[in-house]
Amino acid sequence: MGLRRPRRGPVGGVLTLGGLRASRWIRATARGRGLRRTRRPASPSLGTVTTRNVGTRHPVQHRRQAAGPRPNLTRLHHLSPRLGRSRLVVSRSPSGGRRPGPHHAGDPARSSWLPWVTVTDLVLALDFGGTKIAAALVDPSGSVVRSSRVPTPASDPWDAVVSVVSSVVQGDPVSAVGIASAGPVDTIRGTVSPINVPSWQAFPLRSAVSDLFPGLRVELAGDGVCMALGEHRRGAGQGSSFMVGLVVSTGVGGGLVLDGRPFGGRTGNAGHIGHIVVEPDGAPCTCGGRGCAETVAGGPRMVAWARRAGWQAPDEADAAVLAAAALAGEKIPLEAFERAGQAVGMAIAGAAAVCDLELAVIGGGVAQAGELLFEPVRRTLKTHAGLSYLAGLEVRAAELGGEAGLVGAAALVS
Ligand SMILES: [Zn+2]
Repeated sequence: MGLRRPRRGPVGGVLTLGGLRASRWIRATARGRGLRRTRRPASPSLGTVTTRNVGTRHPVQHRRQAAGPRPNLTRLHHLSPRLGRSRLVVSRSPSGGRRPGPHHAGDPARSSWLPWVTVTDLVLALDFGGTKIAAALVDPSGSVVRSSRVPTPASDPWDAVVSVVSSVVQGDPVSAVGIASAGPVDTIRGTVSPINVPSWQAFPLRSAVSDLFPGLRVELAGDGVCMALGEHRRGAGQGSSFMVGLVVSTGVGGGLVLDGRPFGGRTGNAGHIGHIVVEPDGAPCTCGGRGCAETVAGGPRMVAWARRAGWQAPDEADAAVLAAAALAGEKIPLEAFERAGQAVGMAIAGAAAVCDLELAVIGGGVAQAGELLFEPVRRTLKTHAGLSYLAGLEVRAAELGGEAGLVGAAALVS
């Protein structure tokens, strides 16, 4: 029985442990990977070894499945080949291979021990957007252990996805993958067609990621849903079971958490609150309609409106410059935020009435203007959300910033 070195795939690695020499293997490998053994099994056949990544302090357990509480052998027999394919693991007995298990002696098809199995609670989160691609390892508490992001390239973004995922995984095992993507998405087919990425129309993102992590659970949702879910799990939406999350930025995106769970609707696109009409005769919208909330409250739309109203500003002025001018007391920029706040408030009131919501969490670049936006939002809700069941409707600022999508994507699978 020899000690087999780990084989590594493009991301992740295969860990093959050599029975009794596993502890030595762990020691050697731990040194190589920055891991430190913190507990040792009482005997080669019993116990659990827990190692801790010194750099990031997340636990990775090398667990002897035959030890401790009696294992569900049926489940483990099912699990073992699947874990093997997932590159998370592997397994050999102290005697060097198969031997009769306690419940299936004499049945070679079911008698192998399922000894060393690497188990991890970390999940990989991927957030694919029109301007950036981010990935992170996320622990069970929703905390980001390690993350990376790159700008979304104009062409062939898949190579960038592989690159950013590889830089985050670094060969560590993950248990599942959650994906947030700019929409529209199709969660039935697992495809995405981000408006700002013309080269990706009906791109099979879920299956492409699955090919990187064979055997692992991979879930896909729209980025609005993931933002809302992230804020629900770890941000301003904690404690709320019926909420909408909004990203007021270039456009106005959104997602719903209903009864404590993400709600994507039939194809995964529910919660597009920016397309609630607030001005029936308003400006044309990318959706084909007119006067959607996004046509009033989207950052570039606000700047364009202010310019048309006579605001003198540099060519490169954006929503942040507009906010600074409003804070300085300039009348037209103040009016632009008033209009945007009213539009967002009307959209929230409509969504809240339809879905019986208790909370709206607002994030995104335009929301960085703070009370310039939030004050007219709340004032509008007082007049537009007058139904008795909306009396407690709250509005809060998002807390996770750009991390919300990653935390939400991780929450899809944890
Ligand atoms: Zn629209």
